[in-house]
Amino acid sequence: MVACEIAGCWGQFIEYMKGRCSDTAFRNWLDPIVVIDEDIELVTLEVPNIFVQDYLLSNYKSELCSFLPVRSSGEPAIEFVIAAPKKREAVAPTISSSSPVSVEPKYVMKLNDFYIFDNFIEGPANQFVKSAALGVANNPSKSYNPLFMHGGVGLGKTHLLHAIGHHVQKNYKHLRVQCITTEAFINDLVDSLRNKSVDKMKRFYRSLDVLLVDDIQFLQNRLNFEEEFCNTFESLINQNKQIVITSDKPPSQLKLSERLVARMEWGLVAHVGIPDLETRVAILQYKAEQKGMKLSSNVAFFIAEHIFSNVRQLEGAVNKLSAHCRLLNQDITEELVEMALSQMLCHAPQEKISVEQVLKSVSAVFQVRVNDLKGSTRTKDIALPRQVAMYLAREMINESLMMLAASFGKTHSTILHACKNIESKVEKDNMLKRQVEMVRRNIST
Ligand code: ADP
Ligand code: MG
Repeated sequence: MVACEIAGCWGQFIEYMKGRCSDTAFRNWLDPIVVIDEDIELVTLEVPNIFVQDYLLSNYKSELCSFLPVRSSGEPAIEFVIAAPKKREAVAPTISSSSPVSVEPKYVMKLNDFYIFDNFIEGPANQFVKSAALGVANNPSKSYNPLFMHGGVGLGKTHLLHAIGHHVQKNYKHLRVQCITTEAFINDLVDSLRNKSVDKMKRFYRSLDVLLVDDIQFLQNRLNFEEEFCNTFESLINQNKQIVITSDKPPSQLKLSERLVARMEWGLVAHVGIPDLETRVAILQYKAEQKGMKLSSNVAFFIAEHIFSNVRQLEGAVNKLSAHCRLLNQDITEELVEMALSQMLCHAPQEKISVEQVLKSVSAVFQVRVNDLKGSTRTKDIALPRQVAMYLAREMINESLMMLAASFGKTHSTILHACKNIESKVEKDNMLKRQVEMVRRNIST
């Protein structure tokens, strides 16, 4: 009887996942998996290689646990069988009949035409990184190699990366430039494993003159891919080819092997900071002008004072305003701006997570009082949750370290210490890891 409930659980999981991941991800990761057996206690899956197994467990664990039997340890009860090459060939036509087996990799990524140096507004927070990017673009392999650009979301990392690509393509026509996202690199690797064209892929990457890699943080916890990436990286650097990498964190804070972190620190590490008020105003006015709209300086300052941590949001504000003005045929006043942008402006409650919310959620999960978290008691059952709160505040709140430290009434080094401590504890302590996840979920819902 119970077996009926479990029958087809893998099929149900697959159905569920269909609308929830991209087509590429589905085709590369989930489609190739074959159910060998399923019963109430265990599901046996055949995967084409270890990468697919890794990917499944590290990305869809909670979904798997909802559909498949679960071990007492909390892990989904799955036994993996790696497909033998011969057997796989026999099954291949049925499992991938819908996907054309193309040997050509899908590396090609078009550079965004708008992301050029001329469209990048400079200010004190990004001047250094822009000069570094321009230096690399003017003299690939002869200035800094690799160039590592890091900073928060929506601050122009991808923009600068593509700008380097455009500049090199224009001025060094003989050089082979390729820009990839880390996700695409991983997908390509999986594709070529499936198509048995790994050598071809390796040759492709290793024959480039300039490799631009976006969002390297997605390589974290992808042990097998990391190794292949590291090999590609070294091979290019050894041939004196230029590499540029972007990331949301500096190399030392990425959970990647020491070897790769050290390699990434070889060249120049440059930070993309949050633009100050004047730069934000300049960005707003520039973007508005491009849309044929004129922003008075009052209005520009008004928006820039409310949207401060993300240039993409500034852009969104301009787009929204421009749509509004076209529709209503009104002049842009502060009142209109406030109305049109009410959800985007930071005093809107749903926009921003506060330290208070983090503390509340920590207090609920760890069963301690918010006041104790705010206090300075050092007993372990308070000190640990307090550090969790600092760690999550740093992760989820887009605020400078100084501001966060002030909200906690601590020094910035206390916050950094807490982050480091929790980061390393979470690695080893599964229970803590789950608690941290619960707090995080609790805050964002
Ligand atoms: P990131 O990759 O750091 O998340 P992006 O490069 O995608 O951010 O930038 C987000 C948007 O903001 C892009 O449309 C980009 O053109 C724009 N942008 C970011 N910084 C600047 C800047 N300094 N000047 C002009 N536009 C910028
Ligand atoms: Mg980006």
